[in-house]
Amino acid sequence: MATLVLRDIGELLTLCGPPVVGEDQAKLRRAEQVQKAELALGLVHDAVVIIVDGIIHFAGPSSDAPPIHLLPQPVTVQSGRGLLVTPGLCDPHTHLLWAGERSHEFDLRNLGASYQQIAKQGGGIASTVRATTIASDEALSAGLRTRLDTALQLGTTAVEVKTGYGLWPLSELRLLRLGCEAMAGHPCAVSPTFLCHVPPPEAREGEARERLVSELASVMPIARAGLAESVDVYCDVGAFTLAETERLLTAGKAAGLGLRCHAEQFTYTGAAKLAARLGALSVEHLEQLDDEGRKALARSGTIANLLPGAALSLRLPWPDAAALLADGVRIALGTDCNPGSSYTQSQPLMMSLACTQMGLSCAEAWLAVTVHAAQSIGHPHRGRLGRGARADLVLWEADHYRQICQQLGGNPARSLWVAGAQVIADGVRADLG
Ligand SMILES: [Zn+2]
Repeated sequence: MATLVLRDIGELLTLCGPPVVGEDQAKLRRAEQVQKAELALGLVHDAVVIIVDGIIHFAGPSSDAPPIHLLPQPVTVQSGRGLLVTPGLCDPHTHLLWAGERSHEFDLRNLGASYQQIAKQGGGIASTVRATTIASDEALSAGLRTRLDTALQLGTTAVEVKTGYGLWPLSELRLLRLGCEAMAGHPCAVSPTFLCHVPPPEAREGEARERLVSELASVMPIARAGLAESVDVYCDVGAFTLAETERLLTAGKAAGLGLRCHAEQFTYTGAAKLAARLGALSVEHLEQLDDEGRKALARSGTIANLLPGAALSLRLPWPDAAALLADGVRIALGTDCNPGSSYTQSQPLMMSLACTQMGLSCAEAWLAVTVHAAQSIGHPHRGRLGRGARADLVLWEADHYRQICQQLGGNPARSLWVAGAQVIADGVRADLG
């Protein structure tokens, strides 16, 4: 038995307040929604967290904490220095497994070229696919581990990682295997997703395309056995059609995979409504979502994974968060970390963008990177610090939870524990010595 007492916490978010339930939210005025979101944070001042064998034993006011002599010995005591402590963040949407780099496209885009124009000239996803295909297994795994290290430094303790730069079924299964190998033993918990990204150039038309979709559908059970937790299909112009998306998601569901869908990003396709009907965990992007799609998400309880980094980099319209909240759709935020359209692992930056550009309150942004993000990857026990939860937590260089949303860039995460073990101490990795 090992006990850690983290005391002198100025402000603690347990995320164990009354949950924000969609239908209830839809009936409230905006100010009441914001108030309810803050209650859901389970905010405590002058708090203590007690961890026994990696599990939360107590998280609450210091006046209610059990005395140290009654705890399982030996007991280690650390000070929170009057700062903010929260659960580790969850990033529910990333493409972290890639080789190569696309900074030249960043320049071209900023000088006026569109994402689609760059893709037509062989850039975009195709460029990353080429680099990933010729990269060694070792180089791909090392790249993924480095990116997971960065996410951890920024306060993220659980992350969804998609395949997607193989395109052909066997290449995608290779990436899935590498992702699972790289995550083993890493402090960041990984939820692997098998992504049907875009048809490769050789399979864009006719029979070749039909064969590709059939093969992708038929490898879903292998992906499930290879530890994928979800399948994601990119439905858009240049990617998969609505009918193909339905076929692939249905095959994934039959194989026992959770469903996710890149939907309504560049063009409206009806994919969000389809995903909601199939019981998807989440739909991603949603810049072009319509009223009907939003109502369908609210009815099904499917979470809207909004990706402010991609909207910012691609200068897309911001997803209509106010309308989603008004209809009672739960919102999660993800980095969409990828080498082209959103190169960031910073969830605090996503929170800042969601507040300043999409009108989320700071409390709503916190729900979006903790409990809602965890629910959207099918890990509802994560993202909170209730008794019995795994002790993944972050000590921030901040007095108040709103400061994390207010600060643009930078890294306020100071110390971090995973399953009760300190992984980062004062900004430095503590588990690698
Ligand atoms: Zn994505």
